[in-house]
Order: sequence, then structure tokens, then C-alpha cells
Amino acid sequence: MTEAALSYSESDEQAILDTVSRWVEKEVKPHAAALEHDDIYPQAMVDQMRALGLFGATIAEEHGGLGLSASTYAKIVALISEEWMSLSGIFNSHLMMARIVERYGTDRQREYWLPRFVTGEIRGALALTEPNAGTDLQGIRTRADAHGDEFVINGTKTWISNGIEGGAVALLVKTDPEATPPRKGMSMFIAPKMDPDTGKPHAGFKTGRRLEKLGYKGIDSAELIFENYRLDAERHLVGGVPGQGFYMAVGGLELGRINVAARSVGIARRALKEATAYSQTRETFGKPICQHQAIQLKLGEMATRARAAELLTLDAARAYDAGERCDMEAGMAKYFASESAMENAAEAMRIHGGYGYSKEYAVERLYRDAPLMCIGEGTNEMQRIIIARQLVARNPV
Ligand SMILES: Cc1cc2nc3c(=O)[nH]c(=O)nc-3n(C[C@H](O)[C@H](O)[C@H](O)COP(=O)(O)OP(=O)(O)OC[C@H]3O[C@@H](n4cnc5c(N)ncnc54)[C@H](O)[C@@H]3O)c2cc1C
Repeated sequence: MTEAALSYSESDEQAILDTVSRWVEKEVKPHAAALEHDDIYPQAMVDQMRALGLFGATIAEEHGGLGLSASTYAKIVALISEEWMSLSGIFNSHLMMARIVERYGTDRQREYWLPRFVTGEIRGALALTEPNAGTDLQGIRTRADAHGDEFVINGTKTWISNGIEGGAVALLVKTDPEATPPRKGMSMFIAPKMDPDTGKPHAGFKTGRRLEKLGYKGIDSAELIFENYRLDAERHLVGGVPGQGFYMAVGGLELGRINVAARSVGIARRALKEATAYSQTRETFGKPICQHQAIQLKLGEMATRARAAELLTLDAARAYDAGERCDMEAGMAKYFASESAMENAAEAMRIHGGYGYSKEYAVERLYRDAPLMCIGEGTNEMQRIIIARQLVARNPV
């Protein structure tokens, strides 16, 4: 890794993208396919991403981060995802955890956690989903009971990205299981596996199975089990007051959705690139297949989808950066871009004929990675409902 760490001002955006692009070309491209097929955690790339500063990409400069705008960040995510989507997952959910501390934490919590997150010394994730509750987050059962200055946490989370390789999670729990509505009894903790000061492991935080998946390989998705896991409130209960956790979880979703939209743009663009190149080299009936109208129709639709997905994503990111309410825009971007990733991956596979089914071509990976984009950060069923609700709310009669 020879690239210098990133630094940032708006005018530097292109320089940052060039640096990331060079890193992807030199360090990711030659190894991504092999690591993905063998489902190996890309430790060397993680170390390089730490050196580049990506674990502090959206964290404010006053805490040591790069303080990137959502727009620049989305472009970086799309660029990396074009080569290997899993990599962006390693820092995306980490940055969502950091965002919760930055936005809702006490001053002491910001001072304590954010510098450790910026360097990637502690890398983490967002632990919301449980075996019985994903979309319906108010149905979670993990609970934290107050005992003096501490909380004792019991419960199980599942599907947690970075759950094994990461060192901490932003953990959504119930502190008042009887509250009505239930969301008022939910709280968020920063839950490390070991005490950062002493290095002593927390016995109550156990990692369960590494879950086997269709795609999104390399990155670990895990069950996490909490058994009498004790955390002091001052350092770990985000904001210092219980009852705010649900709002913190959904408050981070706009950026999370822009993020998934950007990953989807990467997949949709890569599928288009692969198909465009292959269709010029593969000949049938005496000419390259790009000269057959049936293939041209596919390429035309794929190019339009990829571009529209990119523009919707940048539109949502711009609104986010301007501090505007953007749940509708982020929902549209996430919904359209992820469906575009699915369709472009499938069409690229068709254009490759039998070779699209071979592990030797990138399109089979895109085909396996794309469906997750329709699930993460709120399923696409929910996105359409959110869009419709906002549409009505913004246009009252
Ligand atoms: C690879 C991977 C990585 C993940 N990483 C993380 C992570 O890091 N952290 C984390 O917390 N979670 C993570 N998840 C979990 C993910 O967020 C959930 O799977 C997702 O929220 C959906 O929840 P569910 O699987 O319980 O589906 P369910 O909520 O059971 O939904 C099942 C179906 O019903 C639909 N549905 C549900 N409610 C409604 C409704 N009201 N109206 C219409 N349709 C509805 C859904 O859209 C879906 O089609 C990950 C999942 C995967 C597969």
C-alpha cells in the first residue's frame, strides 16, 4: 500500500476519488475474486482501508475523521462496490455506529469513542436484527436491566455484519419492555467485546455462528449472544438517557439507505461494463453480439438504469448534505438502485450466455451480491411504503 492517507476539502473530491480508484485497481482488483470465492476475510485490504482513513470517512474532522459529505462518500462507495461490494460493507456499518455516537452521544462519549473508531482501532457494526424481528424493530427481545450505574444485557442478535471481526456494535435493546408504544422503551448501547482501556474481554459478549450466505462473501455475518453482559451507563448508553434507541436506529437509516443505493450503483455499473465489453468480443452468426438488436435493447436499458440509479443516489445525498429531510429521496434511491442492480446483474448474465454462469466471470458474483441490496437498510417493500407515506404527507389536499 503506497497511497497516502486521504485528506479532504470539497475541491479535493476528484483527488480523493482518484486515490481510491488507484487503490482499487492495484490492491483490490487482483485479489477480490479469489477471496470472494473462498469466503476469506480481506484482512490486508482492511488494513489498507484503515491507512486510507476510510474508517473515519464521514466522522467530523474535529474527531480526527475526514468529514466527507454524503455525496463524496456515496461516490467512494460506488467506486469500491464496482470492484467488490463486500468491502464497502466493512466500513459502512462501522460508520453507521460512529454516526450514532457523533449525533446522539454525550460529549464524553464522543471524545472517548470517535477517535478509536476513526483509526479503525475499534471497528464495528450496527446490531438491530434478532431472530424474531427484522423489519419490525419494535419487536426485539434483547433487554438491558438497570443495576445501579450499570445495565445487564441478555438476548441474541443475528445477521450482524462485522460481528466476528469487529470489536464493538451499536446495540439496540429494550430498557422498558412494558412501554407503549414499544419504541419508547428502547435504548442504544455501544457494546465492545473488550474494555478498550484494560483490554480485558467482556465475558457476557459471545459470538455465535458465522452465517453461510449466497453472496456478500468475505465479510462476516454473525449471531451475537449476550448473557449477563454488564455495561456502565455513562460510557456505553448512547446519550446517557434510556428510551431514545429506536429514534437513533431510524435516524441513521437515511444515510444507510444512500449507502446501500451507492453500493447498488457500483453493482449496476459493473454489470453494464462487463456486458458492454463482452458483447463486443463474442461473435454469433458472423458478427459481435452487440450488433444484434436483442442485445442492444438490453444494453440500452442497462445503461439507462445505471445512470438513473446514480442520479437518484446523488440527489438523495445532496439533500442529506443540505440538511433537508430526505427519507423519501433516500428511499427512492435505495429502492430504484437496488432493483437496477438486480436487473443489470441478471441481464449481464444473459448477455454472457453460458459463461455468465461460470465463476471465471465477474457477473456471477454480481448476480449473487445484488439481492442483498433489496433487503438491507429496510426491505424494498418498506421503501415503497415510506415513499408513498411521504408523498401523501408532503402533498396534503
Ligand atoms: C447479509 C445480511 C447482512 C445483514 N447485516 C445486518 C447488520 O449488520 N445489522 C442488522 O441489524 N441487521 C442486518 N441484516 C438483517 C436485515 O436488516 C434484515 O434481514 C432485514 O431488515 C429484514 O428483516 P427480516 O429478515 O427479519 O425479514 P422480515 O421483517 O421478517 O420480513 C419478511 C418479508 O415481509 C416483508 N414485510 C415485513 N413487514 C412488512 C410490512 N409492514 N409491509 C409489507 N411488507 C412487510 C419484508 O419486506 C420481507 O419481504 C442483514 C441481513 C443480511 C441477509
